[in-house]
Amino acid sequence: MPAKTINDVIALCKRRGFIFTGSEIYGGLGGAYDYGPYGVEMMKNIRNAWWNAMIYSRNDIEGLDASLITNRLMWKYSGHEGSFSDPLVECKKCGARMRQDKMKDPTKCDNCGSTDITEPRAYQLMMGLSIGATNDGEINAYLRPETATTTYVNFKNVLDAKPHKLPFGIAQIGKSFRNEISPRGFVFRMREFEQAEMQYFVNPSEDEKYFEYWKKQRIDWWEKVLGIPANKLRFQPHEKLAHYAKAAGDIEYDFPDGGFDEVEGIHNRQDFDLGSHTKSQNEFKLSAKVMENKDSTIKLSYSDAQTGENFIPYVIETAMGVNRAMLVAMLEAYEDEDLGDGKTRTVLKLKPWLSPVKAAVIPLVRNVPEIVDLSNKIVDDLRRLGIGKIELENSGNIGKNYRRHDEIGTPVCITIDHQTLEDGTVTLRYRDTMEQERVKSDEIVKRVLDIVTQK
Ligand code: ATP
Repeated sequence: MPAKTINDVIALCKRRGFIFTGSEIYGGLGGAYDYGPYGVEMMKNIRNAWWNAMIYSRNDIEGLDASLITNRLMWKYSGHEGSFSDPLVECKKCGARMRQDKMKDPTKCDNCGSTDITEPRAYQLMMGLSIGATNDGEINAYLRPETATTTYVNFKNVLDAKPHKLPFGIAQIGKSFRNEISPRGFVFRMREFEQAEMQYFVNPSEDEKYFEYWKKQRIDWWEKVLGIPANKLRFQPHEKLAHYAKAAGDIEYDFPDGGFDEVEGIHNRQDFDLGSHTKSQNEFKLSAKVMENKDSTIKLSYSDAQTGENFIPYVIETAMGVNRAMLVAMLEAYEDEDLGDGKTRTVLKLKPWLSPVKAAVIPLVRNVPEIVDLSNKIVDDLRRLGIGKIELENSGNIGKNYRRHDEIGTPVCITIDHQTLEDGTVTLRYRDTMEQERVKSDEIVKRVLDIVTQK
């Protein structure tokens, strides 16, 4: 049974070193979190799985890692400077500030219930920067609020470096920053977060086909790779489309507290983005309405070698929140298991590829050199596999060690004891079943490899 409430996972994250409150010792900072020893491993695993699906398993998508600090003009022409805002309302009674479209009832204050609420005003979500020694505090740059735009402006760079025929894509994983009105839901809505976004450039005649294709690919990834049951996921088309979008929807997960909510967006953005950042836009027949661009130095167009046509491709975008993907994986894996006799254990039944620690090696005593040496040898052998973090436990309290590794989701523990010195066997203890088995120590590497590579 997955977590009954997000609070179970929040407590585990703090207790076991997955996620801490950002700036905690100074009272925290709204919407900022720090990832601890096990959180960083899990985020890395999710990034790798996404990168593997997007780049290493295909011929048609290239990677990119663009700068997080960006020229202001990029966001002028993308339309963000003018319209990347949320409707902010303020309660005149208690002073609470809220995002109107996320209120339980837009006529009543979420905090005190008063109906005396201001009219909404557009609240800019981008974080402005003042960069350079000659600049006196004026905003001349922004922390990017998404990865996508930094991909569009590199369209020609990537295409020139690695020629592709349409359709082809560019994928990026990285930090994005939004001055959210009300960060909430732990890492669900933060002010600094990580996105894994892919922009797929298609011939305008094929946009609908590829929108459906990516919708299916991404739902499959959530189900088959991340392991989320199909009945906990749904695709929800947007009721109101953004002015540039031809079609859009969200993959949503059924969260234990609030129900279905967005974890990834899939959008058909037409020729809006490449068109917006292109010079001499009049040379192209754009379907999307774009702002006249007087600053761009380049045409972000594509030449079809067969037809000789030069045009602006359409974009199908997949936009996943990496922090939300990790949160969902933890919620699903979390279990408070009843062991009978009033005993329980908390266990994270993560797929082994997601587990922050792949195996723990536990010498039962620390004062017998042969046991310590063999433990170190097993650790070295496992580390040589390059499968991720292998932990050597220093304390012989076996019960505590097993409990800790259950809670951080380590699929298998390897215990070395006195019997090992007599018959060369060690104990493998499996997280999910708690079963223990004695195995010859020279079989360990193969056994662990089998466990961690299982899908
Ligand atoms: P929302 O409607 O929740 O504000 P959005 O539709 O603006 O999100 P996108 O711009 O499509 O989100 O971003 C793609 C993905 O990035 C989202 O599906 C989500 O997983 C993630 N994401 C967006 N904003 C945040 C945030 N503030 N904190 C954490 N993840 C976020």
